[in-house]
Amino acid sequence: MMTPTKLCRFGSHRVLEPTGSLPQAAWRLDAMPVAHENEILCDVEALCIDSASFAQLRAACGDDLRAIEERILEIVQERGKMHNPVTGSGGMFVGMVREVGTALRGHLPLRGGDRIASLVSLTLTPLRIEEILGIDVRTARVRVRGTAILFESAAWAALPSDLDDGVALAVFDVAGAPAQVARLCESGQTVVVIGADGKSGMLACVQAKQQVGSEGRVVGVVPDARSRGARLLKEAAIVDALVEADARDALLLHRRVEAVAAGLADLVVNCVNVAGTEPGSILCAREGGRIYFFSMATSFTAAALCAEGLGKDVTMIVGNGYAPNHAQVALETLRLRPAVLQYFHEVYARS
Ligand code: NAP
Repeated sequence: MMTPTKLCRFGSHRVLEPTGSLPQAAWRLDAMPVAHENEILCDVEALCIDSASFAQLRAACGDDLRAIEERILEIVQERGKMHNPVTGSGGMFVGMVREVGTALRGHLPLRGGDRIASLVSLTLTPLRIEEILGIDVRTARVRVRGTAILFESAAWAALPSDLDDGVALAVFDVAGAPAQVARLCESGQTVVVIGADGKSGMLACVQAKQQVGSEGRVVGVVPDARSRGARLLKEAAIVDALVEADARDALLLHRRVEAVAAGLADLVVNCVNVAGTEPGSILCAREGGRIYFFSMATSFTAAALCAEGLGKDVTMIVGNGYAPNHAQVALETLRLRPAVLQYFHEVYARS
């Protein structure tokens, strides 16, 4: 492959269509497995497909594993990245560094053979899949043989030596959630976490409880209070109250949250993987409160118009998956509660 004349630290030199755009916004990337001087070439071992994307793929493929596999291959072949055209979301990968580009050598604490997890979305990561080796439906993890390119601007993390890869991958995938919650919560506040028994939801609850302290209140919303994750939240006192509700049923959710948090939430954290939960999230926030939409199934239009229609003066925050040191904060959050660490091991460790 010819080396592009101008290499961009954000990777725009890899964009094939439409030229001139950034990789995330692009339709198609060049995924040629060659490390240009400002790139890192990795051998990919596994993809952690974003939860909203995986839920969509499962629904569209009628839960047929072979059909999901074919759809993933088709998307990557067509776009040069795992960028689900329906949900617009990606995920991240874990793999081994094959080559660090010449301009980066000696400037990064990274060498060929290091095992890392990407901390940037698969929606902007040039990716080639040679073979899918297996799909774990429970964890949305896809074992592959393939290659990926990380740009100069990309974030990545070395895999911790004292943690199972699958657990690290699960935590890194949603690292932005606990890191943002740590910044958004204050002592004594009431925080409602919707989708509390999922990966990001559970870490958000742990971090929220840490921040609001004994004077504050954390309410977890789950679709089924009998689920293992939901029971853990209650039994390990990670939440002060558990609410069972389908978050798409806004009025029911509002009623049930108000019953346990009369003044409603200072902060609502939305961690679900389904569409249609914007109205419920907005109703759970107090006047002047904040809503952090971490969910990739969030519609900006629905959120903005619903808040306007309800006459609700709330601040809504787009779920930026990045915050400084987010991987570190997420790992520390996991380790705050041995029961949660054990649960993550039982659910997400590599089988
Ligand atoms: P996850 O582990 O699959 O958790 C999703 C949770 O939502 C589950 O606990 C699920 O409960 C719950 N849920 C589903 N439908 C619900 C409903 N109708 N009412 C109430 N709860 C419901 O997902 P995750 O990995 O934590 O990801 C959560 C969201 O964050 C996804 O939308 C994902 O795309 C997004 N995300 C965003 C970023 C970012 O940078 N902003 C990064 C990664 C992921 P059950 O399991 O019991 O059904």
